[in-house]
Amino acid sequence: MSEKSSIRRAIRRLPVMRDQIDNTYHVVRVENDLGMKVACKKGCAHCCSQMVTVTMVEAIGIYLSIADNRWLLGNVAHWADSQATLIMRGMTSRQWFRTGQRCMFLTEDNACAVYQERPFVCRTLMALETADNCAPDATDPTVKRPDYTRAFDHYLHAIKSADEAALPVGVIPLPIAMQWASIAWTEGRESLRRHLDRAGIPAYDLMAHNTFWSIRLGEMEQG
Ligand code: SF4
Repeated sequence: MSEKSSIRRAIRRLPVMRDQIDNTYHVVRVENDLGMKVACKKGCAHCCSQMVTVTMVEAIGIYLSIADNRWLLGNVAHWADSQATLIMRGMTSRQWFRTGQRCMFLTEDNACAVYQERPFVCRTLMALETADNCAPDATDPTVKRPDYTRAFDHYLHAIKSADEAALPVGVIPLPIAMQWASIAWTEGRESLRRHLDRAGIPAYDLMAHNTFWSIRLGEMEQG
């Protein structure tokens, strides 16, 4: 099977995994399960100032989905480079959040321009009861959020799909992933190793860039 066909095969599995995560994190279900109100609503985009991370297969899936959208391609071309540079220069995720970086897919009215294809991690971030503490300048950083292990299983399937497509397993910051996704289709997946080397990210140490998932993966690996 050619490189592109194996990657396309992995990408074709994404909608099912997204549906499973959306079902697990459905507002009504979360509220019924936990007896708490979900505070997230359109226009509130505090969490879109976090340093979002994605798997390689998600990044290529997003890139292919916007391939006909000049505005979004322009955003990726502009923001992926400048934001990736900040990360390569050592900006931590905490500094990223505090300095109010915005996701390259966030529109002026704080909506997600790739909502249907948004990364798994975005689908699982929810604030319960109040979103006040989600703001970068909040004095209390405690945010109540649902944490379903089943969603993590779906995430592991995505990683497995990436593995089957011979893409590196793990997550990296969205700007670096999109920067690579925009060249991957012409330069091939081997270009990722060079790309990550330039970004100072060892190809097989990708999880180090995402504390939440790396902790959870660490638990899974030990079990
Ligand atoms: S992909 Fe969409 S939901 Fe996720 S951080 Fe970016 S704008 Fe927000």
